[in-house]
Amino acid sequence: MKGKIVLLGTSSAMPTKDRNNSGIYLQYKGEGFLFDCGEGTQRQIMRAGLSVYKTDYIFISHLHTDHTLGLPGLIETLDMHDKPAVEIHSVKGIKSILDCVLNGVIYAPDIEIKINEYIPEKEPFTTIDDRDFVVRAVGLNHVVDCIGFSFEEKPKVKYIKEKIKELNLSSTDFVRLKSEGFVYKDGKKIKKEDISVVQGGFKFTYIPDTYRTESIIKLARGSDILVIESTYLNEEDKAKEYGHLTLEYILEIYPKLECKKIVLTHFSRRYKDTSLFEKRIRAEGINNIVTGRDFMEFVF
Ligand SMILES: [Zn+2]
Ligand SMILES: [Zn+2]
Repeated sequence: MKGKIVLLGTSSAMPTKDRNNSGIYLQYKGEGFLFDCGEGTQRQIMRAGLSVYKTDYIFISHLHTDHTLGLPGLIETLDMHDKPAVEIHSVKGIKSILDCVLNGVIYAPDIEIKINEYIPEKEPFTTIDDRDFVVRAVGLNHVVDCIGFSFEEKPKVKYIKEKIKELNLSSTDFVRLKSEGFVYKDGKKIKKEDISVVQGGFKFTYIPDTYRTESIIKLARGSDILVIESTYLNEEDKAKEYGHLTLEYILEIYPKLECKKIVLTHFSRRYKDTSLFEKRIRAEGINNIVTGRDFMEFVF
């Protein structure tokens, strides 16, 4: 197991008895990535058996309170645990909110808060380009500036020792093959793919609050796991007015998404449970769209 994704909150607007406000935790090679931080998120992290302290990167999709209210408290906890730094990626305005709250409650943290604010763009853009992974974002179509995020592991070429031995490649042959992609050995062409396998390349996408937009497909296509808001079942008028998606629209774009698994979240309180969503998905004969629940986990 390289990592896991845990849903911390799957309700829209207000929390309910069973569903917290938005939050998703991605654990990858010992680092923690938090996507949105609604009220109560830090307790959800603890209840999920994850480490609050290890939250290294925080991505806030937009400034609505159901996605942000947990942030000052979480930062205070990280600071009290003497975490040296945390990195926040969000839309313009997150810095002034934090300044305002932390100054307002007269709390001056020592933790270094590295803030990156973005103007949403219609084409996916890179927010973090690490040795092992890349995080991209794209502007969505909500009632305020809002961005979705995707985390993608960089594929790695792994050479198979047994194959190298079997083909009797010398270190000179191997260096040449690595740089040129092939080498001739005893008159036979040996290609890089003959002695290696490509590993990794896992992709996770989070599409938070938005009305219909092509940007969803641009960012999410080909994801292993896509967590996407589905505030409404089919109430198109409400979806348009409040800038949200319906399950009906997700079913419409489903063939273009080409995702291995799609997890619905951000359900409106108008539904007492998600059975109507499940019934509609079943009617389409689709078995890789599921309704999200708090603490649902996906290991990869
Ligand atoms: Zn929301
Ligand atoms: Zn919103």
